[in-house]
Amino acid sequence: MNREIIKYPDLILRKKCQEVQEVTAEIKKLVEEMILALEKKQGVGLSAPQIGVLKRVIVIETEKGSAGLINPKIIKKSREKEIMEEGCLSFPGIWLKIKRRKEVEVKALDKEGKGIRMEAKGLTARILQHEIDHLDGILFIDKIGFWQKLWRLLKS
Ligand SMILES: [Zn+2]
Repeated sequence: MNREIIKYPDLILRKKCQEVQEVTAEIKKLVEEMILALEKKQGVGLSAPQIGVLKRVIVIETEKGSAGLINPKIIKKSREKEIMEEGCLSFPGIWLKIKRRKEVEVKALDKEGKGIRMEAKGLTARILQHEIDHLDGILFIDKIGFWQKLWRLLKS
C-alpha cells in the first residue's frame, strides 16, 4: 500500500494516539510500510499519525539503519538542552530552530514485540523527541520560542 504523508494543518496531526495493545502481524506491517515511506521521502523520522494511523508507532533513522518503535516512552532526559534546526515531513520546506533535550533514554517495543531501551544523544535524541511529540498531537511549530515567532510574524 502506498502511504501518503499527511500535511499540516490536517486535524489528524492534532489527535492523541492509542497505545498498541499487542504487536500483531498488522502492526509489524505498519512499521515496515512506515520505514518504506520514510526512505522514499529521505526523512529521518516518521510517526503513524502522519500517515493517518492513530497508534503509538514511530520509525526513525539511526546510524545503524531504520528502526521501528512501538509505544515509545521517554524514561530519562538530560537537564541540558540544545538548539538545532529541524524539519518535519508534514511541513515540507519549513525549517525551524527548536530547543530540545540533548540526551534521552526511551523504552519501547520493537516490531517483534520485544522490549527495547535506547539511549540517544544529538540528532537521534532530537528525532525521538520530535516523533514522540507527534503521538500526543504536538508539532514542532508549538515549540518555537517567542522571539522566533515574532520574527516570523514580522517577516511574513
Ligand atoms: Zn514531524
